[in-house]
Amino acid sequence: MSELSLSCQCGEVKGTARNVSAKTGNHLVCYCSDCQRFMKELGQESLLDDNGGSFIFQLPPCNLVIHQGHDQLRCLKLTQKGPLRWHTACCNSPVANTFAAGMPLVGMVTSFIANETDRSNLGEVRFYIQGQHAIGTPPQPVVHPKFPGKLIRRIMRQMVCGKILGRQKPNPFFTEQGKPTSKPEKRYPTD
Ligand SMILES: [Zn+2]
Ligand SMILES: [Zn+2]
Repeated sequence: MSELSLSCQCGEVKGTARNVSAKTGNHLVCYCSDCQRFMKELGQESLLDDNGGSFIFQLPPCNLVIHQGHDQLRCLKLTQKGPLRWHTACCNSPVANTFAAGMPLVGMVTSFIANETDRSNLGEVRFYIQGQHAIGTPPQPVVHPKFPGKLIRRIMRQMVCGKILGRQKPNPFFTEQGKPTSKPEKRYPTD
């Protein structure tokens, strides 16, 4: 288990990811078009891999602590049913994706980990998902076109355990009442 320092690119927002291990979290690359759009909206396309993949580490929200610059957190909603996509106002750094407040799992964008060497604590990427939206053909041997059953079962298990253990709280992105700490800005596709 490791404790990793988190920081936006300019250093205004800082935090800690606690109890991080390859075993308890889900290290994945998502090629979905919404994740790609999120980076484009932020002007952060350079964080995508060559095939448009976003690097995500899913962990319980209680293990993601923001201790500086919380007022700089903002969120975008890119589709009606999609997640809230959190970023910083100070420097447009991507932070995390969240669904409902009660979910004991958030998807942290791994570029939010302050030191590149620290990212090795996440272990190898275990899942390459949503390959249907990848740009070109990713070189990884196992890219699932959508969501692999193995990941879905793993998330279901983490949801159940997380709920029992109360890992959905405290949550840096939602108030005690379950409201997002910053009003979601809707940017739905125009076409
Ligand atoms: Zn910043
Ligand atoms: Zn995605």
